[in-house]
Amino acid sequence: MKVCRSIADVQELLGQWRAEGHTIGFVPTMGALHPGHLSLITLSRADNTRTIVSIYVNPAQFGPKDDFGHYPRPIEADIAQLEAAGADALYLAQDAEMYPSNSELRIELPQLGSVLEGASRPGHFAGVTLVVTKLLNILQPNVLYLGRKDYQQTVVLRKLVRELFLPVQVKLGETIREADGLAMSSRNAYLSPTERQQATILYRCLTTIKDAANPDASVQPLLAMGRVVLAQEPQVELDHLVIVDGETLKPIGVLETARNPVVLIAAKVGTTRLLDNIQLLA
Ligand code: AMP
Repeated sequence: MKVCRSIADVQELLGQWRAEGHTIGFVPTMGALHPGHLSLITLSRADNTRTIVSIYVNPAQFGPKDDFGHYPRPIEADIAQLEAAGADALYLAQDAEMYPSNSELRIELPQLGSVLEGASRPGHFAGVTLVVTKLLNILQPNVLYLGRKDYQQTVVLRKLVRELFLPVQVKLGETIREADGLAMSSRNAYLSPTERQQATILYRCLTTIKDAANPDASVQPLLAMGRVVLAQEPQVELDHLVIVDGETLKPIGVLETARNPVVLIAAKVGTTRLLDNIQLLA
C-alpha cells in the first residue's frame, strides 16, 4: 500500500491510476479504524480497481468543547489494518496543506447542517462539507463511500455533491455493529466497562421502535416506547431521539408519509457522545 502525505504525491499516484484506466473508490476517515471503516473498503474494492483511504482528523469539524485534542490517532495499527483490508493507498492529509493560514472558504448547508447533530455541534457540518469538498477536489475519485452510521452526514454530503455538481457517485454502507448491537465507532474506545454496558441501550431503544413500526404507525407513540427503554439506563443522557424523513430530516407524523422514515438517536454515555439510527420501513 502506498502512503502519501502531500497533495503533490497523492495526485501523482492517482493521475497514474487514471492513465492506466483504473476506477477509483475513496473512503474518507478520521482513523482509529474498526470493521465499520473496513466494510467501506470492501464495498469499494468490489466496485473499483483501486481504493484510496484518507485519514485526517479534520480540525474544522470539531467545536471548542469537542474531543479534537484526544481523538485517538493509532496510525501504525491503522496502516496494518489497511494493508490487511487490501486498500491500495492511504492519503494522510496535513493541516498546512488543507488549511493554509490564509484560507477562508466556508461551505454551508444552513438548513440540513443546523438540525439534529448540527444543532448540538454548531459548525460541525460546515467543517465536514469543507473538508470533503477539498478531499474530492484533490483526489477526484469515481465513487465516494460513506457509512449509514452517520446518517445526517450522508444526507448532508449527498446534498453537497448534488448542489455543487461534483463529478462523483456516492454509495452508502450499512452500519457495522458489535455482537450486542452497539454501532462500532472510534469513540467507543473512550467508554469505561460500565459505560460500554450502558451504551447498548441505544440499539435496544432503536430496535424496540423498529419492531413496533408499520406504515400506519404514528411517530409519537413509537418515540414514547423508545424513551421507556432509555429510562432503564438513567445514566445515559439523551440528546435527541427523533423519527424523520430520511431525505429531508424533517419531522413526520405518520411513518408512511415519508419515503424512508428513519429513527435517529444521539446520547451521552459518561462524557462520550454516541450516535445511532435505523431505517424503519426498509
Ligand atoms: P469516521 O472515521 O468516524 O469519520 O468515519 C469514516 C467513515 O466510516 C464515515 O463514512 C462513517 O459513517 C463510516 N463509519 C463509521 N462507523 C461505522 C460503522 N459502525 N459502520 C459503517 N460505517 C461506519
